[in-house]
Amino acid sequence: LQLDWDVIIIGAGAAGLMCAATAGYQGLSVLVIDHAPKAAAKIRISGGGKCNFTNLDVSAKNYICRNPHFVKSALSRYPSNAFIELVERHGLAYEQRELGKLFCSERASDLIQILRTECDWAQVEFSLKTSVDKLRYVDERYQLQTSGGKFNANKLVIATGALSFPKLKATGFGYEIAKQFGLKVLPTRPGLVPLNFKGKWLERIAELSGLSLDVAVSAGGMRFQEAMLFTHQGLSGPGILQASNYWTEGEPIEIHLMPQVSVLDELKRLRKQAGNLNKWLSSFWPKRFVQFWQQLHPAPEDIANASDEVLEAYARQICEWRLYPAETGGYGKAEVTLGGVDTDEVSSKTFEAKKQPGLYFIGEVLDVTGWLGGYNFQFAWASAVACGLAL
Ligand code: FAD
Repeated sequence: LQLDWDVIIIGAGAAGLMCAATAGYQGLSVLVIDHAPKAAAKIRISGGGKCNFTNLDVSAKNYICRNPHFVKSALSRYPSNAFIELVERHGLAYEQRELGKLFCSERASDLIQILRTECDWAQVEFSLKTSVDKLRYVDERYQLQTSGGKFNANKLVIATGALSFPKLKATGFGYEIAKQFGLKVLPTRPGLVPLNFKGKWLERIAELSGLSLDVAVSAGGMRFQEAMLFTHQGLSGPGILQASNYWTEGEPIEIHLMPQVSVLDELKRLRKQAGNLNKWLSSFWPKRFVQFWQQLHPAPEDIANASDEVLEAYARQICEWRLYPAETGGYGKAEVTLGGVDTDEVSSKTFEAKKQPGLYFIGEVLDVTGWLGGYNFQFAWASAVACGLAL
């Protein structure tokens, strides 16, 4: 590999590959460096091996960022339609699932192949299994000392992602580079992560392990109506992962166990008809959960003669089940990382650091976290293209 490059991109993940192809097509010489043996390990395992690569309905409200306007420019210039057009051009078979989520029909590696092909066409070079030992900015150029030798570049793009899933070689390298150049990094914590319990609640929940319910989960003022899964450690499933982004330690989560119906109205109807409460509960929940719930909150004994207050209290228990998780499952189980390089430090149009010419940050290394549903990849694509065009 040659010594001098127009652009070096560190990180061959979703954002790095997309940015490399975009820059290569501009006629720039581009080298992508990654310490992992293969590119895009996270794409490969994402979405249960089928990669939820974007969403049909993407807007700034689907993102958590200290500056809620930051994502708007890139997302509007590279909307999900643009990415769909790209994968269609390559003949990718994909499918739409609930809430506008798009997945590969067969395997996520088909998507990696598309990105690698784009990079080949754009004449991007790769140096995998390569770690960066030292980085210096001298005479308006970036000098890198790596395990694969020395490289220089006019422009340097940091696309090293964040701390989630260390077993896939995730690191805080991007934060260190930001700090090296005096940029602010906001505190990080695991996001889209299962919530763990301890003590007697863990015992109770673990008994239900494997069971899934359609619920609405609220935390920190946000509400998500998606499935919840009981596990040996606590709670998981899309509804819980979504809520985890807004949960803070010490606070409760609130679960509506029958979001699809007006519970109080249904209970009043049951009272009028002197119906069977157990049978009614079983029409919404699996038997195992009905038994669990009956032990936790014994039902009014004689529903036909229950007072309004009794029914209201029972309805509240179903609609506002409050639980206090002990902790998150940590970075090892988290799909994303909240916090990161402060977006005030970079341009929302070009992703170049305001204080450091020629240094760019894209993708998850930034303080931008999407909801579950393809939003994180969509930001990776959009930030990468905005940056690639600006290079
Ligand atoms: P990454 O894709 O993480 O790429 C970073 C790259 O940098 C990696 O290749 C890494 O090896 C390299 N790197 C890191 N440190 C160094 C270093 N020191 N030196 C050299 N190279 C380095 N999002 C969705 O939108 N839809 C999904 O279906 C989805 N499913 C997910 C499932 C799981 C299990 C996980 C963990 C995440 C999932 N995500 C999903 C989130 C999504 O994968 C990330 O948001 C996205 O990959 C971020 O892209 P990125 O390019 O910024 O970082």
